[in-house]
Amino acid sequence: MTGSDPALPVDILIVGGGIAGLWLLARLRARGYGALLVESDRLGSGQTLCSQGIIHGGTKYSLHGQLSDSAQTIAGMPTRWRDCLAGRADVDLRGARLLAEHQYLWATQAPTSRLAAFFASKLMRSRMEKVANRDAVETPPALHHPAFQGAIYRLDEPIVDAASILAALATRHRDTIVLNQGPLVPNAEGTFTLRQPGQPPQTLRPTITVYTAGAGNAALPWATPQLRPLHMVIARGAALPGPLYAHCLGVSEVPRLTVTSHYDASGRLIWYLGGGLAEEGVGRDRAGQIVAARHELRQLLPWVDWNTVEFATFTIQRAEAHQAGGRRPASYSVLRDGRMIVAWPTKLALAPLLAERIETLLPDLGLQPRPLQWPTLAAWPRPALAAYPWDREDMAWS
Ligand SMILES: Cc1cc2nc3c(=O)[nH]c(=O)nc-3n(C[C@H](O)[C@H](O)[C@H](O)COP(=O)(O)OP(=O)(O)OC[C@H]3O[C@@H](n4cnc5c(N)ncnc54)[C@H](O)[C@@H]3O)c2cc1C
Repeated sequence: MTGSDPALPVDILIVGGGIAGLWLLARLRARGYGALLVESDRLGSGQTLCSQGIIHGGTKYSLHGQLSDSAQTIAGMPTRWRDCLAGRADVDLRGARLLAEHQYLWATQAPTSRLAAFFASKLMRSRMEKVANRDAVETPPALHHPAFQGAIYRLDEPIVDAASILAALATRHRDTIVLNQGPLVPNAEGTFTLRQPGQPPQTLRPTITVYTAGAGNAALPWATPQLRPLHMVIARGAALPGPLYAHCLGVSEVPRLTVTSHYDASGRLIWYLGGGLAEEGVGRDRAGQIVAARHELRQLLPWVDWNTVEFATFTIQRAEAHQAGGRRPASYSVLRDGRMIVAWPTKLALAPLLAERIETLLPDLGLQPRPLQWPTLAAWPRPALAAYPWDREDMAWS
């Protein structure tokens, strides 16, 4: 604390404004807790606005033919998110948008043994529906072609417009979100100093601090995350055959290709390509990844003129709790050291469960809901929303 700067009491200080921090803030405020969020850059500038926005229902994690722990954890998420979008649940997402109601799954040939094992699971069968051959209404335009030989399934997995989700949360909770250029770690006496050019420093005295800073959580030595890279590909051009939201099933547990569709700031259709292409692409440079993407798309959708489509790529790290062998965690992760909590959702889709879990820790830490307001922060700068990768000015297209 400084003489002219009395420390403001904050019951729960949340550090990091991606989906995990913003969802937690909304949940805790709905429950009446005195929570404040600090962001050092733009909201969603880590992974959240680079995500494909798929609210997984578990299908992707059952591609080896068994209902994995991940699949069971994530099963209720599509319904949970839809309830929030409709304003029927704890976190109010009204005003945010779904890009599509369903993700599709397509296999290039008649069901392989992998697909057959997958369908042996009754639960999985209940979550997906085969699309009748050549159904012009249901078949995504990109796959509705006489030369298409595969099978198509509709999954109960909506795709959210991640920017609209963050905007809905940020707008509703604007009074409790502040920009901070200071370090992530607290001062020796447990206080936290907010800094911004042109503003006198402001000290906060949090009872509990929750770190939801994604890869930024690495600043806490006891909570070093594992980082798993992806080399994502973006495509744009008039030849793209309409929006596509689909996983293409290959021979491994990871879909060969995962496509989602978005619109850039100029209204142009974007295809965003992940899955196996992005996992394997970490070993390729930008030019090599574009060659691989073109090759994959020509193989899978040969009726499209890929010569006129422009491509861009970028690499990004998925930040998660450390796992033996660097595997993907089965669910979200929460670590605690005294009054500090570190959290990673592992998936955008799991943010609601992560927030719920953190809330269950609060009574044992002596915290109860109570109204707190910080009028002295009313004029403090607020963070803006980050841009989607396809709208970034530094993105190189070729
Ligand atoms: C390419 C890609 C595609 C994905 N697709 C999907 C998908 O389709 N579906 C799905 O469910 N999941 C998906 N994921 C996973 C999902 O995006 C992440 O699990 C989720 O976004 C992580 O959110 P987060 O809030 O923990 O972290 P982030 O989104 O990384 O947010 C961290 C925030 O903390 C801030 N920060 C960092 N340091 C500090 C500091 N010192 N002080 C204050 N703030 C700080 C950052 O600026 C950032 O705003 C995808 C991930 C990637 C990389």
